[in-house]
Amino acid sequence: MKDTVHQYLQQQKALYGNELYLSREPDSLPSTSPVIDKSISYKEIDDFNQSICNCMECPLGKTRTNFVFGVGDPNAELMLVGEAPGKQEDLKGEPFVGRAGKLLDDILRAINRKRGDGVYIANVLKCRPPNNRDPLPSEVEKCEIYLQKQIQLVKPKLIVALGRVAGKTLLKMDVPLKELRCKTHDYNGTPLRVTYHPAALLRNSNFKPPTWDDFKWIRDYLSQA
Ligand code: SF4
Repeated sequence: MKDTVHQYLQQQKALYGNELYLSREPDSLPSTSPVIDKSISYKEIDDFNQSICNCMECPLGKTRTNFVFGVGDPNAELMLVGEAPGKQEDLKGEPFVGRAGKLLDDILRAINRKRGDGVYIANVLKCRPPNNRDPLPSEVEKCEIYLQKQIQLVKPKLIVALGRVAGKTLLKMDVPLKELRCKTHDYNGTPLRVTYHPAALLRNSNFKPPTWDDFKWIRDYLSQA
């Protein structure tokens, strides 16, 4: 019990520094996930990756270092979706790495989840736009079908778009983030919420408390779904 409390406080410190945010409801303590045979799904999703990883359907195919398919549990309840790979992701071939990725992992740990176990992480675009510019509609038109196929394979209970650009791209709504947050949208039949991009939290720590509220909602939603 002492170790669990210590681990919890360490996670809170990683997220919020020396400030402690308390919810009215006590946070649940880490639980053990049931063991599920995932071998067939891993192969299925890997086959899909192999079938598209040389894609040149839009000009970003020529400028990428690596195709960034996605990573995680093919049976995930929770799918996190960003807009497109950044510089580190392009170099490594994995979404959400570097400081923002580490913060995302800390947030997931704080709701007793982790990438690869109940969580799948992907982007709308699989190749990096030059200088991290926003995805162009023509690129989204070509690439979004791959994300839709990933969702069809993983069948998450909830999709969470990370950041305004991912949210507006998926929902085709060009509105501020505050109009996208705290609402359950529909993405081709799967519930979708929008929250802050972890990189935004690194730029402005004022976004951390509302993000934590969003992730507590996500934790509670998944525990009831
Ligand atoms: S961004 Fe998508 S559509 Fe464009 S080349 Fe990469 S995988 Fe293909």
